[in-house]
Amino acid sequence: MSKKVFSGIPVSAGIAIGKTYFLNRGSSTSTIRMDIDEGHVHEEKVRLKQAFSLALAELVKIRKKIPRELKEQLAIIDSHIMILKDKKFQKSTGDYVRKKMINAEWALEKALFDIETAFSKIEDEYIRERIQDVRLVADRVKSQLQGQPSDISSLPQRMILLAPDLSPADTIELQLDKIMAFATISGGKTSHAGIIARSLQIPAIVGVEGLNDLQDDRLVILDGFNGKIIVDPEEDELSHYTELRYQFGEYQSLVNRNCHLPAETIDGYKVKVAANIELFEEVAAVIDKGGEGIGLYRTEYSFLNREDMPDEQELFEEYRDLASIIYPHKVVIRTLDLGADKIPIHFGPGRETNPALGLRAIRFCRKHPELFKSQLRAILRASVLGNVSIMFPMISGVQELLEVKKIFYSVRNELKSRQIDFDPAMPMGIMIELPSAVLIADLLAREVDFFSIGTNDLIQYSLGIDRTNKFVSYLYQPLHPAILRSIKHVVDAGHEAGIEVSLCGEVAADPYCVPILMGMQIDSISLNPQGIPGIKRIIRQATMDECKELLKRVIESDNVQESNRLVREMIFTRFPEELMFYTSLIEE
Ligand code: PEP
Ligand code: MG
Repeated sequence: MSKKVFSGIPVSAGIAIGKTYFLNRGSSTSTIRMDIDEGHVHEEKVRLKQAFSLALAELVKIRKKIPRELKEQLAIIDSHIMILKDKKFQKSTGDYVRKKMINAEWALEKALFDIETAFSKIEDEYIRERIQDVRLVADRVKSQLQGQPSDISSLPQRMILLAPDLSPADTIELQLDKIMAFATISGGKTSHAGIIARSLQIPAIVGVEGLNDLQDDRLVILDGFNGKIIVDPEEDELSHYTELRYQFGEYQSLVNRNCHLPAETIDGYKVKVAANIELFEEVAAVIDKGGEGIGLYRTEYSFLNREDMPDEQELFEEYRDLASIIYPHKVVIRTLDLGADKIPIHFGPGRETNPALGLRAIRFCRKHPELFKSQLRAILRASVLGNVSIMFPMISGVQELLEVKKIFYSVRNELKSRQIDFDPAMPMGIMIELPSAVLIADLLAREVDFFSIGTNDLIQYSLGIDRTNKFVSYLYQPLHPAILRSIKHVVDAGHEAGIEVSLCGEVAADPYCVPILMGMQIDSISLNPQGIPGIKRIIRQATMDECKELLKRVIESDNVQESNRLVREMIFTRFPEELMFYTSLIEE
């Protein structure tokens, strides 16, 4: 292959130079037809039989770990087991191998196609849709046939990881002694993979077209600032990027030195800069990087990548330890935002047509009240030091909030009657991340102690852009007038009601957006710990007057290109030396 440059969406800053390793290449490759001769038919059928058996064994193992009360999940796994056990699927695939003298993978596609055709004729929509289950089972068999390692721990040495996709669960498994950077074919600007990469401080690019063509073991430069992968770099490129990597390291040391200073503008306006974390272990980085508490603890990550579910006691200990380590700063514990792309192993594969619009976050919790209540008890019990706040994600309306509060108060009363200690004044807040919540911010503000604006989802749901989809990523625009007006409306409504307003989406880590948030007089922002020193440094060099002036000009502009230009102009003029080391959500 001649030298080539692959481009994608930069989601985590930094430079890595190393060899490539493609994980799970199989799931993104289309199946190739291969003709086989008579002598190989038996061999191919044995391979097929083994793949079906291994897929079945895998499912039986998963099933054993699902608790009995999770009936729906058990039913899904059972239906998959039935498909695998039903010898007809395996037999029709085997027949294709023999009759058409083709490889097992292609035969599997053909057998699947026949089933899909038969299903498409079924009138009952529910049954017709069950073809999804057959496809999932076929994928499982296909991975077994291709013998693709799906386990990151199998990496031979420290590599640049390439993959079709990395789920939130995959990403938290990344071992830094094995992986120096990663790139994926799918993904958008605020995919969870990118969020975790920033926390881990490894360069990352998502949405890379044609990545599948990049072979294993090639020397590449991964440029996490500009979203580029340079294959087989020339000498001068190697020295340029080595120098850039060095300069980035120097810049990081420089900003880290002053990271404990407050984020106060030259003219005396202070904004609290807290941290977003996904895992308990990150608390050390929060303290190290000058985080003024934890503004968002994404608790759902403790539920991923494990066969069993954490019980109340385990959660209580985790939250209690977190609260005491971060004390006297505060920690905002967000209740589970499971669902969509974050499904614990227990719940089996998701089967919603539009999971981001389905049983996610607070809706998921209300569907699983025991799970929800056990987390609420754990949070309450951990609140005794007085520095814990609770926050509910994805609230869409007042009625929903009242129902959630009812559950919360019933749990509180239960603890009280059992004489278990908790902080009776624990602040309660909600994420504002749905357009409906923005529009009724005044009504919601009466019911809670604080708001935290989740722009990752607010942009997704307001502009109708799947945050993980690279094809619409160019439309993911934080400075879209609808988004700016929404944020401003929520800040104003919160202040009008006398409550604190924070912002914890990725916009809070974007140096191009922060001055605008400051202009709106946001009370606090929360971002990945690694980004805190740089953002604090920019705030300390700014004045409130210039932030307000910028906001005024941007809010008056009626198109996003003009807003992007205004912001870039201000930032480039004021902070030129800071900006070469950032990735931004703002398009050039
Ligand atoms: C958000 O939606 O902006 C947010 C902070 O939550 P998450 O990224 O976990 O959905
Ligand atoms: Mg969100």
